Amino acid sequence: MRLGGLLRNHKRHGSTRLRYNWGMDDCIFCSIANGDQDKLVWHSDKVAAFNDIHPKARVHILVVPKKHVVSLDDLDDPELAGELLLAAREVAHQGGVKGGWRIQVNTGRPAGQVVDHLHIHVLGNPGGDPAAWGIAG
Ligand code: 5GP
Ligand code: ZN
Repeated sequence: MRLGGLLRNHKRHGSTRLRYNWGMDDCIFCSIANGDQDKLVWHSDKVAAFNDIHPKARVHILVVPKKHVVSLDDLDDPELAGELLLAAREVAHQGGVKGGWRIQVNTGRPAGQVVDHLHIHVLGNPGGDPAAWGIAG
């Protein structure tokens, strides 16, 4: 990791967490959301969706804002909040799980948030197989 990344990590995990100074260079979800569109399953001007790298259900898509927002605790834009939720529904339907799907937003380390870029897990199993459910995070 470069020195800048180390310093930012140090500050993030210290008492004065820097919420807004975590730019695209360091954030994997910023890179994916604003990178190669072929890797996205859906996107709009402000929102992107892509498959989770370790799926916990047959359909496991992550819906994220294209701009960096650390977590739901940091989201202050009601319009973007609505767009994210409707995008979650859109990708669930697109994934073939209309009528039986769930969302999960892990917020903060104690709740299992590992990637510090707000993401909605969209989980579902085409065919509605109840044995195929997992919990994300
Ligand atoms: P969290 O625990 O933060 O709510 O969830 C992070 C999710 O991001 C996990 O389900 C994990 O599998 C997924 N993930 C982590 N790194 C990558 C990555 O580089 N690409 C993709 N597509 N998903 C990732
Ligand atoms: Zn980011």
